[in-house]
Amino acid sequence: MDAALHKIAIVDATGSGKGKRRFTRDAIGAGSRSVYGVLEELGIEAKIFLAEDILEKGFPQRFSSLFISAMSMDKIAVKRVISSWRKNADGRVVIGGPISSELDSTLLSTQADIIVIGEGEKTIKELIEYDALRESTSIETLKKILGIGFFDSNGKVKINGFRKYSSREEFRAFQASTKCITDYPKYFSAKVYVECVRGCSNFKGTKLLLPDGRQCSDCGFCDSYCLEDRLKCPEGIPPGCGFCSVPNLFGPARSRTPDQVVKEIAKLLEKNVKRIILSAPDFLDFGRDNELGDNLLMNPYFPKANIKLIEELLSQIASIKNVSNGKAWIEVENIKAHLFTEEVAKILSKYLPGSSFSIGCETGSESHAIQLGRSSMPKETLRAVKIAHKYGLKAHVYFIHGLPGQTKQTATETVKLIHNLEPYIEKVTIYRFRPLPMSAFGDVPPPKPAVKNPISKMIADAANEVNFQKKTNLVGKKVRVILSEPNYREEGGAIANILDGGPMVAVENAKERIGEIVTVYIDKVITEKLVHGKIVE
Ligand code: SF4
Repeated sequence: MDAALHKIAIVDATGSGKGKRRFTRDAIGAGSRSVYGVLEELGIEAKIFLAEDILEKGFPQRFSSLFISAMSMDKIAVKRVISSWRKNADGRVVIGGPISSELDSTLLSTQADIIVIGEGEKTIKELIEYDALRESTSIETLKKILGIGFFDSNGKVKINGFRKYSSREEFRAFQASTKCITDYPKYFSAKVYVECVRGCSNFKGTKLLLPDGRQCSDCGFCDSYCLEDRLKCPEGIPPGCGFCSVPNLFGPARSRTPDQVVKEIAKLLEKNVKRIILSAPDFLDFGRDNELGDNLLMNPYFPKANIKLIEELLSQIASIKNVSNGKAWIEVENIKAHLFTEEVAKILSKYLPGSSFSIGCETGSESHAIQLGRSSMPKETLRAVKIAHKYGLKAHVYFIHGLPGQTKQTATETVKLIHNLEPYIEKVTIYRFRPLPMSAFGDVPPPKPAVKNPISKMIADAANEVNFQKKTNLVGKKVRVILSEPNYREEGGAIANILDGGPMVAVENAKERIGEIVTVYIDKVITEKLVHGKIVE
């Protein structure tokens, strides 16, 4: 492998939909930085771009190949990026990230040359070591690389065997790049995700009847600690909550070491990053796997949260200079309600006071939660947010409408729970169910939007009511924000993001201070998604 022959463009298309990000505009996921980290280790030059910038301005220079990271919803943006690439370049196009779990359909619809399925680091390393990015690479060579799909010499899609999930040691051996963070235009105000845990500990499966007739027969393999047993499910039901592909794509939960996470954060903060999200399908899985020796963490309940290691991690993070002096903001991404205890809340509030985190509740009905394969029950979410509130932590709770098994009864129970949660939470986020490839519900037809489905609408209305109330409650309050970009509608003004989540804030006379964290007094609601404020410090 001659590193000098490569110069790779990495396009982060995550969340770009048809071309422009409408949601999560202030988020930088860990995927593209991980890919960059592999290239960096191999001594290969690379640069990260946002899909929307490429679609607006084209590729600013020549590259030998193109890597794209995206989700299924970004297919149109990905197609447009590839067509822009092929106008001036002939290097191979490789796609990775959740979009690749659609296998044949990803290749056929985007016409990329190669897809990388599931965890990408080892596969990308092999693609380069086998010299598979060159047009002249033989099909026989491509066939040797596990975890990829490509077009064979007859133009037919060929999907190679999947790669085994990385072991804890292999996962820890790869390091996401920190150097590349400045390739992102808004890195100084964006939420930068730092991977702490990969995979999920919930290897139970859905009990619902699937469209092709498969249904759980209660064989007991789900309770096994052995991955091979679990994957031998006689009914072929993918592990985890029926709507989620994380366990199937990324395997059991594995944690990085506190030292790795802390070093990565410190380097990002040195580069002027100000917001860090400790990323994990469940942050409370952090270090639980350490207690199992060689066994894999596929049980969501035992062992309990590893308080000692979580405290070790958070105390080290809290002592990084820019964190201790309030110039940077750290928060946890997701937690599972059943692992959240007073002890956990005490530690979180000690080192990350006033911070927020998300809890996926998805349904307010216990019987529905069991049918879906959930590990936490709705009552555990209520219990968890009450504890969080007591310790000054801000919970955001997620629900999904249109899920398989949703009935008027389950929606009524969900509405009731949303209202019961209200006093203890910051906001409710609802999503419409989307069938994800490689999840148990992958072949379930997508549901109608909430406006066209009266049962889903009950859930959407309850969430909107609670969120509207929360927004109105902001008026007259002081909030900590990060000033992100100029406000083109108000001279001298800036648009800011509230650190612990919430609507955008139009801040007057703040343009000169973009990139800073400040305290703002909210004086009015402008629209459903925008409030107005003044700097008070
Ligand atoms: S939704 Fe959460 S708990 Fe359920 S399988 Fe996915 S990551 Fe695991």
